[in-house]
Order: sequence, then C-alpha cells, then structure tokens
Amino acid sequence: MAKPNKGLAQHFLTDLGAVRRIVGAAGVGADDLVVEIGPGRGALTGRLLAQAGTVIGIERDGALCDLLRSRFGRGLHLRNRDVLTVDFSDLIRGAGFDHAILVGNLPYYITGAVIQRILDARRRFKRAVLTVQREVARRIAATPGNRDYGVLSIAVQLYSDPKTLFDLAPDVFNPAPRVFSSVIRLDFQRETRYRIQDERFFFRVVRTAFGQRRKMLKNALLGMTHGRMEILQRVGAMAEIDFRLRPEAVSIPEYERISRALKGFATSAGSVTGADSRQM
Ligand code: SAM
Repeated sequence: MAKPNKGLAQHFLTDLGAVRRIVGAAGVGADDLVVEIGPGRGALTGRLLAQAGTVIGIERDGALCDLLRSRFGRGLHLRNRDVLTVDFSDLIRGAGFDHAILVGNLPYYITGAVIQRILDARRRFKRAVLTVQREVARRIAATPGNRDYGVLSIAVQLYSDPKTLFDLAPDVFNPAPRVFSSVIRLDFQRETRYRIQDERFFFRVVRTAFGQRRKMLKNALLGMTHGRMEILQRVGAMAEIDFRLRPEAVSIPEYERISRALKGFATSAGSVTGADSRQM
C-alpha cells in the first residue's frame, strides 16, 4: 500500500470503535444520500455503505481512488476531485436527491475553506458530522467572552446548531497526527438562527471587528466610518452597545444591532468600508 501523503493530511482511522461512533452520530438511513469528504482507505465508507441508500466519496488522491474502487466496486460513487472545486448543490441534485448527510474526517489543511463551502451549501445538507482538530472544534463552539470566539464561531452558529460530540486521541489514526481531534455535528437550520437583515454587510462588520480583536470596538471599527469617531459613537448609542468592549465580548444579536445601525449611517451619510475577506 502507498505511503500516506502528508501534504494531503492523510491520517487514516484504524479504531473500529471510533468508526462506529462517527457513523452512528451521522444517523444515516436506507433512503439517505451520504457525501463523504476524503474517504481515504475507506474506514468510514464501508460502514456508511452498509447503512445509506447512496454514498458519494470525494477523494483527491488518485491512488486512493483506485484502492477504493477495488474495495467497494460500483457500490461507491467516487469523484477523484479536490473538494474545494465541488459544487455540492449540483452533486446532490445530480444524484437525484434534494438533501444529503455530510460525513468527513477532514483534511486539516483546508478545514476553514471546507466549512465555508459547507455553510454556503447548507440548504442541501440535513446535517454534517465532521472530524476536525480539537482546537477548531473549540473555536466553532465558543461563546462571547471566550478567547476562541471569532468569525468561525459566529458563521457556524448562525447557520447551524453545532455540537461537539467527543474527542479522538492521536493514536486512533495511522499515522498519528500531532494533535487531538474532535467529532462535531452541525444540524443545519432552514433560516439563520438569528434574524440578520443583510448577511453580507453583517459579515463585513464581524470580520472588520475581529481583524483587530485586541482593540476596543470603537477602534476596531473606526475604519468603517472612514475614521469618523462621532459617527461611530452614534452607532454605538443607537445599537445600545458599549464600544469600549472588545470584539470577542460581543454576541451575534449585538453584532446584528451594530450592523443595522452602521448600515443606516452608510445609507444616509455615504459609504462605509470594511473587511470583505471570506477567511475564517
Ligand atoms: N476518511 C479517511 C479515514 O478516516 O481514515 C481518511 C481521512 S484523512 C484525515 C483525509 C483524506 O482527505 C485523505 O484521504 C486525503 O487524501 C483526502 N484529501 C486531502 N485533501 C483533499 C481535497 N482537497 N479534496 C478531497 N480529498 C482530500
């Protein structure tokens, strides 16, 4: 068997108990379509195939695709692709389904980008059961006041109800990664969990604030009013937020209040600016 490719974050699950718990958490039934990201040597895939109606695996490594084909034959629908180039919506509808359950022991080097794509396609997923670095799971679950709280927490909590299910020690993988992992489940909501008037603008505000997370809000957001502190003070008063707080102390509904107030000024007093990066 070919050596694991470190560049593709290949750490293969070898612990049957962990496999059972992960697949159990996905709650897969005979009518379900499962999309698996990075099936690798098929540790999860075999069990998923036994429970699901259809399984589509997206695996970037061609040699692993050959191995998966010889192990599972035509039962497994394989895409030898980079998951970051896959349109989940097309994939799911092309397979004749409206929704899928997503399972993935994610390649760690692209976790943030994959989660962003999953959130973008959330209406096509019933739920996702993902293995991520424990540190990422903490960031996803973090609440205001916690130093792990940030853009990732807000994005995932806005669109889903994230749960950290259990941790996995490095020795359940071969080769063992240097870090602990956590298995998380995201149950997606049809609507955002909080009413957001303008999601794009909301994330500009959030990203701008966390771009300078050590500063007080009044300084972190100053660029958005082109340096005009008097406008920012009025925004703070209108939103009823103390702008001496740091970005990590502010909740999702509070960011929404800031966004609405700031947008009001943007429309009446000219443009506001801010970070537009999709980086989490
Ligand atoms: N699911 C398997 C398991 O649990 O044993 C393998 C998990 S391993 C951590 C990550 C898998 O993702 C590897 O098989 C790797 O080749 C694959 N992978 C890495 N980057 C990828 C990408 N951009 N798109 C699709 N698959 C990728």
